[in-house]
Amino acid sequence: MTQKIIIIGAGISGLSLAIFLKRAGMDCEVYENFPYKRVEGSSFRINKSGVHVMTELGIEEQVKMNSHSADRMRLLTTDNIEIASINLMQNSTFSRRSIYMQRSELVEVLMRQANISGVAVHYNKKLTSFSQDASNVIAYFEDGQQVMGTVLVGADGLHSIVRNQMFPDNLLKYAKSWALYGIGALKDIDSNLVQNLLSGDELFYFAENANFLVSKSHPTNELNLSWQASGYQERKISREEFELKTLNEMKSDLLRRFGEHGALSEIIKNSFNIIPKQIYCVDPIPSWSKGRVVVIGDAAHTINPNTGYGSSVALEDALYLAKMLQKHHYTDAFYYLETDRKDRIKAIQDTVKTFDVSKGFDFSNGFDIGMFSGTGIDPEYKVYWNN
Ligand SMILES: Cc1cc2nc3c(=O)[nH]c(=O)nc-3n(C[C@H](O)[C@H](O)[C@H](O)COP(=O)(O)OP(=O)(O)OC[C@H]3O[C@@H](n4cnc5c(N)ncnc54)[C@H](O)[C@@H]3O)c2cc1C
Repeated sequence: MTQKIIIIGAGISGLSLAIFLKRAGMDCEVYENFPYKRVEGSSFRINKSGVHVMTELGIEEQVKMNSHSADRMRLLTTDNIEIASINLMQNSTFSRRSIYMQRSELVEVLMRQANISGVAVHYNKKLTSFSQDASNVIAYFEDGQQVMGTVLVGADGLHSIVRNQMFPDNLLKYAKSWALYGIGALKDIDSNLVQNLLSGDELFYFAENANFLVSKSHPTNELNLSWQASGYQERKISREEFELKTLNEMKSDLLRRFGEHGALSEIIKNSFNIIPKQIYCVDPIPSWSKGRVVVIGDAAHTINPNTGYGSSVALEDALYLAKMLQKHHYTDAFYYLETDRKDRIKAIQDTVKTFDVSKGFDFSNGFDIGMFSGTGIDPEYKVYWNN
């Protein structure tokens, strides 16, 4: 029987999956809650395995033009004392590097590629529920529309409606961490240290129970400075004290925490957009699929965004599921997706538990490389379209 695959979510994994499925000659359509143009300022790190999937997607050149290679990480105290400098550029081949890119730029590049591939993306379509029987699955949308398919993929992110319906007991839990994501223009900041960012450095500042990572995220765009601050917080901060604060209030809080002087304070003072996010997680779900329905990316497995792995594993999932659906009946495809990928996801999640950057590091007695060891993550992990 011909498959018709309904994909919920035009984010990182949903669009990538659709592009690969079209390449495999399979029928799919994407349904996205938001309108087409969505402004989202923050930028994220994409590890080597994710960049490799981008080359498999055929978007390497566009990604290169819109991203910044993460070549060297400098670890600093908030007084600008350099604790360590780590060379991150292990290979001159683009697909074997980690990069920084604004999420909105990546979504834009994926949308262009989806369009070239002939993928239909329907915007303003919020999934509210689904039903399934022996032959079909039906997606129900807020505007009353119903769409029938043979398979439904929930690529609908952290707050997944699809996962919620599959496993209503696996609710989002506060992960004892807050994060602030900021952007600013390098040209507005007058500091020698900040100029190092131009040559490919990431600056990682540590304070008590908090850290601040700053990097360039675009080669030419003037919004080319992006940062994320995160911290450990046992009890969630209230909306009034966090999400609802003004830009200036957030800056004042950060200056109190990280200090009023030096390069870091300049970066904070010159930021013109800050997005506050509480970090949430979901306990591992009993299965990534239920009948004709499967989840991928953040919908299937939450990964603390401070690790830089969320988007990379979402891209890996998309490639792998498309490849399995091309070769196998959907029941086997879902089985192989989960069986072959779950150990990698677990290794990353376990590492986050032991290596929680949101707690910051105490460098008062020096720096020990052992702080970063024993991760169990294969740094050379890759998924290929052909093999
Ligand atoms: C502020 C922030 C910073 C982050 N920083 C990093 C980082 O530094 N490194 C990193 O690797 N990861 C980071 N992440 C995580 C990263 O963005 C995700 O892990 C990654 O995008 C997962 O891809 P996805 O396709 O699973 O979900 P998403 O890219 O989130 O896509 C989900 C899509 O589904 C849509 N959707 C949701 N519900 C519905 C519905 N009911 N109906 C229709 N559509 C729906 C959403 O609008 C969205 O477009 C960050 C996340 C956030 C929020």
